[in-house]
Parts: sequence; C-alpha cells; structure tokens
Amino acid sequence: MNTSEQRPLLAHTKEELKERVVALGGKPFHARIARDSLFAGARSYDEMTSLPKQLRDALAEELPLLSAELRLMTHASDGATKLLLGFPGRDEGSDEVETVHIPPHNRRSPKGATLCVSTQVGCPVACPFCASGLAGLVRNLKAHEILEQFLRGMEVGPIGRAVVMGIGEPLLNYKEVRAALDVVNQELGLGTRKVTLSTVGFPERVREVAQTSPPFQLAISLHTPFDAERDVLVPAMKGVPIEDVLSAGDFWFKKTGREITYEYVLLGDHNDTPDHAYELGQRLRGRRANVNLIPWNPLGPQIGDPAMPNYRRPRTEVVAGFQADLEEAGVITTVRWSRGLESDAACGQLRLHS
Ligand code: SAH
Repeated sequence: MNTSEQRPLLAHTKEELKERVVALGGKPFHARIARDSLFAGARSYDEMTSLPKQLRDALAEELPLLSAELRLMTHASDGATKLLLGFPGRDEGSDEVETVHIPPHNRRSPKGATLCVSTQVGCPVACPFCASGLAGLVRNLKAHEILEQFLRGMEVGPIGRAVVMGIGEPLLNYKEVRAALDVVNQELGLGTRKVTLSTVGFPERVREVAQTSPPFQLAISLHTPFDAERDVLVPAMKGVPIEDVLSAGDFWFKKTGREITYEYVLLGDHNDTPDHAYELGQRLRGRRANVNLIPWNPLGPQIGDPAMPNYRRPRTEVVAGFQADLEEAGVITTVRWSRGLESDAACGQLRLHS
C-alpha cells in the first residue's frame, strides 16, 4: 500500500483533496462537502449523505477520514477529560500526544469548554519541573495532527476556547502550528481572542510572529525574574536575557494591540520568595502585561528520577502573598489552580499516563 495514498483527509490541501475526489469519480465540490462534514462532526463517509453513495464507498476505501486514534480517555471529577491520541504506523507508547477538554467552572457558562492541545511529541525545552520534556523531543506534529486534536476534543463537547499549552514548544514547530490555527480560526470559527499560544518566548520568533496578524493571543512562560535561575528553569533559553524576552513581549503588544500574559509556575521555596515577587514587579511595572501564577502540579511518584529536583507546591498563603506583592506593584495577576490534577491532565503532567 502506498503510504502517501493513506494520508488522512486533513493532510491534503484543499486543491489536493479536490484532485483525489475527482480521481475517485466525484465532482470538485464534493471535496468541500467532505471537509465541511468532517468539521461538522461526521466521523464516517456514510454519514455524509449529500455525497453520492458510490463516492462515499470509494472514499471509505481510499482516504482515511482521521489519523489520530483515541487510545485512552480519562475523566477527572472536576470535569476535565484527557484524551491520549496515537497515530497509525507509529509505535504505541512512544508516539502519543495528549489533548485535554476542560469545561467551564460554571457548567451553564456561555463561554464553553477550553481545549488544551499539544504541538510536539515530547518537548525539547526540558524544564525540570515539567513532565513533558523529561524524555526530550521525539518529533514535531504535523498541522493535520494538531487540527485532529480539535476534532477529537469536540467529540467530548463543544469548545469555546483553545490553549496551545499541551506537550511541546509551539514556536519550535511554528509552521505546522500556524497552519493548524489558521484553519481553527477560519473553519472552526474560534476567534483570535479565543486561542492562546504559550511559549518560552524566543525573542526573535516572538517578533517575527507579531508581524503576521497571528490568529491567537500570546502567553510567555517566565517563571523567574532572575537570569541565572531562568537558565536552570527553562534550559532551552539558557543565555537569553529576561529583558530581551520582555522587550519582545512589548513589541508584540505594540504590533498586535494584545497584552501578553506571563506565566509563572510557583515552586515552593524556589521562586516564590518576596524577593522574586519584588523583582518581578519591578520588571513588569508599567508594561502592558498580566501575570498568571500557576501553583506547581506535582509530577507524582511515576517519575522517580533522583536527578529531578524535589519541587513542591507552595502553601496557599504564600501564593496569596506573592499575588498581593505583584498587585501592589500594579501588575494584574491571576492565580490558576490547575484542574484535571487527578487524571494527570494538569499543566506539566501530560506525559504521565494514568
Ligand atoms: N512549552 C510551552 C507550553 C507548555 S506548558 C511553554 O513552556 O509555555 C504550559 C504552562 O504550564 C507553561 O507555563 C509551563 O511552564 C507550565 N507547567 C509545566 N509543568 C508544570 C507543572 N508541573 N505545574 C504547573 N505548571 C506547569
């Protein structure tokens, strides 16, 4: 079997899809119907009743509708659903990504659920407090594999927002990520303010992307106001001064008119001291930016790596104090207690399979 012929529907450009459909005896506009029906929830060609029966049979034979297979689904009591997705022809266990569907706190909120998607298998950034990069990078995801996470996620329930905050560093696979997000914006109808991409903030890349009308908001993982400490907490950014990251963030605001969110994982007795809060406040004072404080989520005993620093989640009072110090410096700050903790679906835990 020719593997290129087994590429799933979304791995084809619209033009390529038309050609495939015509080669199978259909009309060019049938390609559009097939693609739209997939986005609208059809999960087999048989459900696409506006296509001629003969074409449906031929498509079912020749053109896989989706490549992402659902390998495991876990539900946490807070409502978050974690999907473990694998891709055919790749090894089970070594080539899987996770997607998390997170309903709003208030089930009746019109905001809809948030979907958290992955961009790479593994992660090359290797933050010592995060499970995603413990085994390094396996490979980049293709645009259609990122897009298929949206479709699988929408099977759990409708989504109103998306965060590109799953496994991987999106700015190191930007071409594919962008191609997927353009479709999410144009064909799934998620507005540019409803999608947030989180990165460690490579300054040059942030500046480049800022100039391309990105269909998303930007969050930058900062984690400390001290350069030497950031070299340890975000190893892929070693040697890049925090000031360069922040000024790229300023440039982003100037170009897009959208404020940056800085993410700050709070590690008990590491980066949660009053000195950290003071220095962070000084750095962000007067900048158009917000801070999200994320109390660290334990990685659990699965890791058991003696080289892993022994992090812990700070006490609630420490988190509150840190937030108060930042607000005193005039920095708008939100605390994000992660949801999905017990199914290993919270930030930094996605590599841990229940
Ligand atoms: N690579 C991107 C996106 C991934 S993660 C980035 O670093 O921004 C999204 C956020 O979760 C990042 O801010 C990341 O640092 C944070 N995170 C990772 N591990 C965590 C953990 N164990 N507890 C809480 N937050 C964590």
